[in-house]
Amino acid sequence: MERRKIEIPEGVKTKVSVGEELDFPFDISPMHEGERIRKGEMYVELGGPKQPGFELVVALKPEEVEDMKVTLIGSDLDELEEGKAHPYAMIYYVAGSQVDPDLEPIIERRNHDFQNFIEGYMHLNQRYDVWVRISKEAVKKGLNSLTQIAKATMMLFKNEMPFIEKIEALYITDGELVEKLLKEYAMPIYDERDARIESLHDEDVEEFYSCTLCQSFAPTNVCIISPDRPSLCGAITWFDGRAAARVDPEGPNRAVPKGEVIDPIGGEYTGVNEFAKDESGGECERIKLHSFFEYPHTSCGCFEVIGFYMPEVDGIGWVHRGYGEPAPNGLTFSTMAGQTGGGKQIVGFLGVGVGYFRSKKFIQADGGWYRVVWMPKELKQRIEKYIPEDIRDKIATEEDAKTIDELKEFLKKVNHPVVTGVVRPVDGAKITEGWVEEKKEAEVEKEEMKVEETKPAAPQVSFTPSGISITPPGTPGIKLVIKNANIYIDKIVLRKKKEEE
Ligand code: SF4
Repeated sequence: MERRKIEIPEGVKTKVSVGEELDFPFDISPMHEGERIRKGEMYVELGGPKQPGFELVVALKPEEVEDMKVTLIGSDLDELEEGKAHPYAMIYYVAGSQVDPDLEPIIERRNHDFQNFIEGYMHLNQRYDVWVRISKEAVKKGLNSLTQIAKATMMLFKNEMPFIEKIEALYITDGELVEKLLKEYAMPIYDERDARIESLHDEDVEEFYSCTLCQSFAPTNVCIISPDRPSLCGAITWFDGRAAARVDPEGPNRAVPKGEVIDPIGGEYTGVNEFAKDESGGECERIKLHSFFEYPHTSCGCFEVIGFYMPEVDGIGWVHRGYGEPAPNGLTFSTMAGQTGGGKQIVGFLGVGVGYFRSKKFIQADGGWYRVVWMPKELKQRIEKYIPEDIRDKIATEEDAKTIDELKEFLKKVNHPVVTGVVRPVDGAKITEGWVEEKKEAEVEKEEMKVEETKPAAPQVSFTPSGISITPPGTPGIKLVIKNANIYIDKIVLRKKKEEE
């Protein structure tokens, strides 16, 4: 997609500031990373779950970028209603002799880092999920304009990434424009970046790339980015890792030689294991890139989607960050995020990026799509074309199932592979047995039917004030009396007898 500057619509409210800011009313230091701003302490929220928001870096020619210029469209910080959430877009135009569109995602991902250096400013997530809070305390100290934030961020970009020779910012709080640009300008660029990787596979390259940016809050997290496994934050693909390693070989994105293949299906390599062991301080000795259950990839906290195992159906569900309802396991995204994150390998939960659903090797060790049983409709629609056609309608959404019981019923009805046993497409191995309990129940039912056929007489049951009296058939003189029993009835079915009967 052609990179171009956004035309500022006529009649919108704008504020422009050019040149470096010499004095900021806030402290800027890595020590503010990890600062949390709770609801009661927040002056305003920008983007997040209630309002649209995004961040985007666009590489342009040097002559198109006006260095250290900020344009703000919409209300500024001192005009935004206190205590409320507002739309927010942060667009940066960058230029430099080494800067090209390959570097955009790498620069964009650092917006998260650098903005968290700002005292009283909290930045979470990435791309279209950005969620910012500004504290009351920061406003009290003199922070009154988003142009101050933009200037501080641009200064950090230029200091920390010297290959950026020019940078210009466009910040927007005008809701209509944020939504329009997200849909028509930013999403096509994100999609283009993700699609680029589809024709390249793990076996086609000699090196993968690491990312250790999130070790600042999850010290044992080691992201390994391969052609078939984009980053779990969704911001970095193999091409992006390669571009970053080219301009900064000692930075957070380093080349990881693959070494020998240990498990081609799970995606385990000697080089990755060695790197992970070193970088996680020995915490993580083995990683299988395409396995959900065995030595899964670490999950820091930036994942766009969480995978969760549901033993009741022996299947895997996926829930994305924007889905606020509980999944069929009864847990919301945020509750599961607490269990999944932290940089550990948690069997049963896995953080991934949306881009991983495009991968031909998507959890292939565990049956790939044939092990997937549930995902929110919104997420399913987004990645529908990557789901094999024969399983697409067998994956439930919240419209089909909200609880485990409903999910069980649905999966039985559509005859999902988990019910009878999953055959792994990559090698044809049958990797699950199917619902053994269901089979047992079916056998017991059959046995009971046989017994009923041979013993047509039914027990005599009568309800008395002192309990239930049961006289088993063919046992004259024996009467069973059950007292003080609590009886729960799930369902009563009334059927009209057929006329001929
Ligand atoms: S989630 Fe992984 S790839 Fe993304 S910024 Fe963090 S460490 Fe890097």
